[in-house]
Amino acid sequence: MVLAIDRMNLHLRQSGVVPVPRISKRQRLASIIAATGGIRVLERLPQQNCLVVLNYHRIGSASETVGDPNLYSATPSDLDDQVRWIKRHYHISSLDEAIAFVEGQITFRKTGILFTFDDGYKDNYDYAFPILYKHKVQGTFFICTSYIGSSQLPWWDRIAYMLKMSRNSKIVLHYPEFMTLDLGEGKLEALNRLLGIYKAGHDLNKDQFLEEIARSTGTGDERPGERIFINKTELKEMSGNGMAVGSHTHSHPLLSHLSPELQLEEVSVSKEMLEHDLGIDIQSLAYPVGAPDSFDDRTQEALRRAGYRIAFSFYGGKNIAGKTSPYNVRRHHVGVGDGEPLFRVRTSTAAILGEPLF
Ligand SMILES: [Zn+2]
Repeated sequence: MVLAIDRMNLHLRQSGVVPVPRISKRQRLASIIAATGGIRVLERLPQQNCLVVLNYHRIGSASETVGDPNLYSATPSDLDDQVRWIKRHYHISSLDEAIAFVEGQITFRKTGILFTFDDGYKDNYDYAFPILYKHKVQGTFFICTSYIGSSQLPWWDRIAYMLKMSRNSKIVLHYPEFMTLDLGEGKLEALNRLLGIYKAGHDLNKDQFLEEIARSTGTGDERPGERIFINKTELKEMSGNGMAVGSHTHSHPLLSHLSPELQLEEVSVSKEMLEHDLGIDIQSLAYPVGAPDSFDDRTQEALRRAGYRIAFSFYGGKNIAGKTSPYNVRRHHVGVGDGEPLFRVRTSTAAILGEPLF
């Protein structure tokens, strides 16, 4: 899960929270590059011997979700186009190849692109898996083991849901500090602020914070009942049909907020459960949230002790063979509102420069 203001603005507009659509500067610039034939030029320029890791979360329509619309990375049709285009121009890396590349054992003749998906939402099974399978492309799915088969909303979806369902035009919270939030025109800012407090809160009592939001929004414990995460049978089917699976911890905490013992437990339990359920070695992990302060040296020590070979962050940067830390492999977001020109400009410049130009 990541909070990116640009994407959040767009998704909330799509869900009807913010009424006026607006194109970002990056999208406008990418459209100009596309209209003047620039993308075709970028596609033909020499590619770096580097690994570009794309990160998706949910696949589907952001306007129909009861949860956080910010989590949507692509519609099924966008993903289909993106996979087809990448297959034509770049080397699709498997997870095993990505590990070997980062460990300095292999190089790529073309830029290697790895598709990764975080959180294990059911729409990954419903939409991403059939598309990737059809194109004979491997995706790597990072699974939170406590969410497998669950219909419970994770904290970010729960906060978005409570704001969305609230009939109050203004809410007053008394924890962790007194604050008044406008839910009329300011729903976007309210969601942004509450997610930020949750993520930044080293000393925050997270259950108390969620209860306070429930009380102030007047939504209590209302929850949608349908299953929203992949179940064990679906995961086995994906794993048995060419998809790679990694850990996204057991309960999606911000690892750096935990003691070394709890960090080790989170990464060990999820690894053991996935290995038991799927009968495969789990060697990779994606850090929840994945920002620079979401993990620390103690996290990396826990990964070493648990037997992981690679871990992915989520704040951009380059992956060069032999120079990238195996426990901080960089990834780039894909946003559902980006549109085709921006996706292609970002990916093609990443292949030339090692990371997207913008
Ligand atoms: Zn996540």
